[in-house]
Amino acid sequence: MNANFLQTPIDYLKGVGPNRATLLKKELGVHTFQDLLNLFPNRYLDRTQYYKISQLQQTNAEVQIVGKITHIKTVEQKRGKRLVATFRDETGQMELVWFRGVKWIRENIKINVPYVIFGKTNFFNGNFSMPHPEMELLEIHEKSIRSAMQPVYPSTEKLSNSGITNKVINGLMQQLFLESKNAFFETLSKPLLEQLKLVSKKDALLNVHFPKSQAHLARAQYRLKFEELFYIQLQLVRKNLVHKSKIKGYTFDKIGENFNTFFNEHLPFELTNAQKRVIKEIRNDLGSNAQMNRLLQGDVGSGKTIVALMSMLMALDNGFQACLMAPTEILSVQHFQGLVELCKELNTSIELLTGSTKASKRREIHEKLENGEIDILIGTHALLEDKVRFKNLGLAIVDEQHRFGVEQRSKLWHKNEYPPHILVMTATPIPRTLAMSVYGDLDISIIDELPPGRKNIKTVHRFDANRLKVFHFIKEEISKGRQVYIVYPLIQESESMDYKDLMDGYESISREFPMPEYQISIVHGQMKPADKDYEMNRFVKGETQIMVATTVIEVGVNVPNASVMIIESAERFGLSQLHQLRGRVGRGAEQSYCILMTGHKLSSDAKTRLETMVRTSDGFEIAEVDLKLRGPGDMMGTQQSGVLNLRIADIVKDSEILKIARSYALQTLKSDPNLASDENRPIKNTYAQLVKYRNIWNYIS
Ligand code: ADP
Ligand code: MG
Repeated sequence: MNANFLQTPIDYLKGVGPNRATLLKKELGVHTFQDLLNLFPNRYLDRTQYYKISQLQQTNAEVQIVGKITHIKTVEQKRGKRLVATFRDETGQMELVWFRGVKWIRENIKINVPYVIFGKTNFFNGNFSMPHPEMELLEIHEKSIRSAMQPVYPSTEKLSNSGITNKVINGLMQQLFLESKNAFFETLSKPLLEQLKLVSKKDALLNVHFPKSQAHLARAQYRLKFEELFYIQLQLVRKNLVHKSKIKGYTFDKIGENFNTFFNEHLPFELTNAQKRVIKEIRNDLGSNAQMNRLLQGDVGSGKTIVALMSMLMALDNGFQACLMAPTEILSVQHFQGLVELCKELNTSIELLTGSTKASKRREIHEKLENGEIDILIGTHALLEDKVRFKNLGLAIVDEQHRFGVEQRSKLWHKNEYPPHILVMTATPIPRTLAMSVYGDLDISIIDELPPGRKNIKTVHRFDANRLKVFHFIKEEISKGRQVYIVYPLIQESESMDYKDLMDGYESISREFPMPEYQISIVHGQMKPADKDYEMNRFVKGETQIMVATTVIEVGVNVPNASVMIIESAERFGLSQLHQLRGRVGRGAEQSYCILMTGHKLSSDAKTRLETMVRTSDGFEIAEVDLKLRGPGDMMGTQQSGVLNLRIADIVKDSEILKIARSYALQTLKSDPNLASDENRPIKNTYAQLVKYRNIWNYIS
C-alpha cells in the first residue's frame, strides 16, 4: 500500500461526509486514512461466551445471554415511561429495561421467541436487570458472521450524540480495509520480526481491528505496542547520538591540581562505589569532544553534592569556570557554605549569587565572572539573568532538575560561545522505564547506593487521636538534644485554608512546647525571604529545636542533628513529596524517625501511599508505586505528558516491551547509524514518514 494512500484526507472515505469528517477530526484527531487505521480500540467485547442467568455475577462487565421474553409492561414514572420486560432462560429470569424508544420496541419485540441479548447488567434487590440491551433474534444471530471479539473504539459524547456510534466507526474501518485491500507496508525490518517473533504489520492491523481470537489479538497488540515504543526510542536515541556527533563541547583532557589535591588530601570520606562509577561516567563525557548532557539521579542523601564538586574541579583544572544552580535561596546558601568548606584548602574562588545579593556585591560578581576571577558560581535563577556573563563557562550543574523548565535549562546553554557541559541532578527517582521515555535523549547516571552507616529511618503511621503520645515522643527526642521538623501541607487551591491549619498547628505546638524551654522556628511561603532565612538559620544553628514549616523545606535542606520528621495530614501529600520530606532526617549518626499523621478517613490510594512509606525507603521502589497510582502523565506533570500520550502501548503496563524496544533501537542505530542497509530500509522509510507527517510522533520536539 503506498504511503500516499494512507495520507488521503478522511473526507474521501466512503461513508464519511463533510459533517462526519469534521467531527472525526475534531473529536478524535482523525484527519487521514492513516489516523483512522491508528485509532486503536480501547477494549474488546468478548462475544465468544454465553452466560446463563444463574451464572451472573455483580462483577460482570458485558454479558451475552440466550433466552426469551415472556412478559412485557409499560411503567409510568414521573418523567416519561419505562418499558420493562421479563427475560428468562432455563436457569432463571431477569428484567430488561428501556427508557427511550419505548414505543418502537414495544411494537417490534417478539414474545416467546429466542433472542441473544448483550449488555451490562445491574444488580438491585437480589435481581439482575439489563438496561437497553443489544438484541438479536437467535435465528439471525446464528447465521450472521462476525468477529467474536468486538472492538470498542474511543469515543466522545459529541460523537455518539451525532450518531457516530461504535458501529459506525467499525463500519468505516471495514471500508478502509476494503479499499486498501489490507495491502499495508511492513514497517519493521526482517531481522527484528524474526528475532522477536513478531507478526507482520498486515496481520497486526487486521487482528487489532478484527480479531480472530484472543490469541491473534494478543500477538497483534504486542507487535503494535513494540512498534510504537520502538519508533519513539529510535527517535530519542537518534537525537542523543546526533547531539553527540554534532554538538561539540570543550574537551577537558586533563585531571589536574584541584581534582587531585582534593581527591588525595581533602576528601572527607571514602566514595561509595556508585559515586565512583558516576564520576567516571562524567569524566568520560567531559573528556570527549561532545557536549555532555547528563541526568544524575540519586535518592536524597545519596551524595550527589560531592559528585557535583568533583566534576566542577575537572572544569577548573582545564581552565574553565563552573556554576551550580539550585531552585531556592536556602539551598543555594547551603550548597555555597558546604562547598566553601570542602574547598577551603584549595585555591578556588567561589561566589554566591541569589535574588537577595546586594547590588554592589552583584556588580562585583558580574565583573569578576567576566574577567575570570571567579571559578565557581553558585546560586538561584539569578544565574540566568542576562547580565550574568561568564568568561568561559565549561560546566553548568542544575540541582533538583524537576523545578526547572526546559526553557530555563536552555538559557544556560547560551551563556557562552560554545555550550557548556550540562549535568542535571535530581533527587526524585523516576522509574527506569519512565526515564527512558521522558529523558530518553539524555544520558543517565544513577547513584543507587547510600553512603555506609546510614541508619534506616523508622517510619510509622499515627492517627490524629494519638497526638499526645507523639508530642511526648518529641519531648523525649528533644531532651536527648535532637531537633524536630513538623510539616504541614500547602496545596495551591486551598492556600488560605492550609495557612490557617499551619497557624493553628503552630499555636497548639507553642502551647505544648512553651518558651523558654523550647524554641520554635516557623517557615512558610507567605514570609519574606529574609525572614525565612533568619528562621531557617536559627534551626540550622541549633538555636531552635522545632521547625514548623510548609513544604518549603522539601528540597535538599541539610540539618544532620534533626532526627524526627512529623508530617501532618500526610494523606494529602503525594508519595514523592513524602519521600523527599522524610529524606530531611537520617542525615546524622542518630536513629531517625518519620511519623505520618492522618485522620481516620483515608482513601484507598492514600492507604497505599502510607503503607508504602512505612514499608520501604528505597526511592526507586516508591517511584514505581507512585507511577502505578498516578499514571505517567500526572507523575511527570503536564509538561512532558505529550511524550507519554501513546496510542496503544502503556508505559506502566508495557514496561517490559519498552525495555526491549529501547535496546533494539540502540542496537539498530549503533550498527547502522543512518539506517542505510537494505534490511533496515523499512525502518528508514517509516522513520522518514513519521518525521514528515508527524502523525503519531508530533509530540517529540
Ligand atoms: P544529596 O544526594 O541528597 O544531595 P548530599 O550530597 O547532600 O546528598 O549528601 C548527603 C550527606 O551524605 C552529606 O552530609 C554528605 O557529606 C554525606 N556523604 C556523601 N557521600 C558520602 C560518602 N561516600 N560517605 C559518607 N558520607 C557521605
Ligand atoms: Mg542535594
